[in-house]
Amino acid sequence: MQDCHGRTIDYIRISVTDKCNLRCVYCMPEKSVTEKAHCDREQQILTQDELERLCRCFARLGISKIKITGGEPLMRRDVTALISRLKAVPGIDNLTLTTNGVLLKEQLPYLVEAGVDAVNISIDSLDEQSYEQISRRKELKRTLEGIEAALSYPDLVVKINCVPLKGMNDRQLADIALLAKTRNIHVRFIEMMPIGFGKQFACQTEEEIKHILEAELGKELTPYKGRLGNGPSHYYSVEGFQGKLGFISAVSHKFCSECNRVRLTCGGFLKTCLQYNIGCDLLALLRGGASDEQLTDAVYQTIYNKPLCHHFDEPAADSDTEQRSMSEIGG
Ligand code: SAM
Ligand code: SF4
Repeated sequence: MQDCHGRTIDYIRISVTDKCNLRCVYCMPEKSVTEKAHCDREQQILTQDELERLCRCFARLGISKIKITGGEPLMRRDVTALISRLKAVPGIDNLTLTTNGVLLKEQLPYLVEAGVDAVNISIDSLDEQSYEQISRRKELKRTLEGIEAALSYPDLVVKINCVPLKGMNDRQLADIALLAKTRNIHVRFIEMMPIGFGKQFACQTEEEIKHILEAELGKELTPYKGRLGNGPSHYYSVEGFQGKLGFISAVSHKFCSECNRVRLTCGGFLKTCLQYNIGCDLLALLRGGASDEQLTDAVYQTIYNKPLCHHFDEPAADSDTEQRSMSEIGG
């Protein structure tokens, strides 16, 4: 479907849990994490049945691509069964996953069987100390094993995501980029967005990151004209590299005019822009007995009224600003 600004919306990011086995400094607090109830009678996250029902509504409106995210999606015990149900929804032709990789090696065979088309693995450092400083956990080894395991599936598209943090992983950026040298994987650098705990960190801009990479690699990054994937990344080729280097630069290169996505939080809130809390409480509608037609209509109205753009560069009124953390929203 198209929103009121004429943009085609065909992609949804679904956060399936707010639990995580890491505590990245820009995403979650170290202690006192408030998590939603997952498995008692008061379950506060969307159930498999609810998610499947909603995905049927999304697909009816033309959404064909799903990204499963979290928190850490692989922490959700029924994630494989959930993925196979969502992938089977008529109209859904692409289902991908973003993960920190810690649990990936053991779960990958089941995820591939369930129909995952691509995996994005987040890793902010290849150095044990700075990995731990950023994620507050000693899980570098398992994350690297997750990456290796993913690369052993020739049909699985694998991408690496890294958030540059001034003073914390600057010296690691080139090493992470080098993952794309000998393997056909794309490494993307994501500008820090002022959402949740991310507000406490300075955004290292694409220009700054590019400068660091060119200096450290001793090679120029040449703009790549082709399109890779469903998202807003733009890519560069580097001589001698099999994979590309990408940037997701929501702050310095606003891409709202091409935005094709909406988000569903694990608590069932349909969000139409990362910066604002504008959207629709689908959990309340589902649990209040709404019919499929009522749900589809609510989704349609919400997407139709998607805001034109974010204003990360201007302070927004507190009442409109998103107060949820990225672990609940899903990135
Ligand atoms: N746990 C999974 C992971 O880390 O890939 C999925 C959820 S995580 C919220 C999804 C992505 O959002 C990760 O790549 C993470 O680095 C990124 N992210 C989290 N907070 C961010 C922020 N403030 N700005 C930019 N990216 C952020
Ligand atoms: Fe967990 Fe991903 Fe957030 Fe890191 S970025 S704390 S891995 S949800």
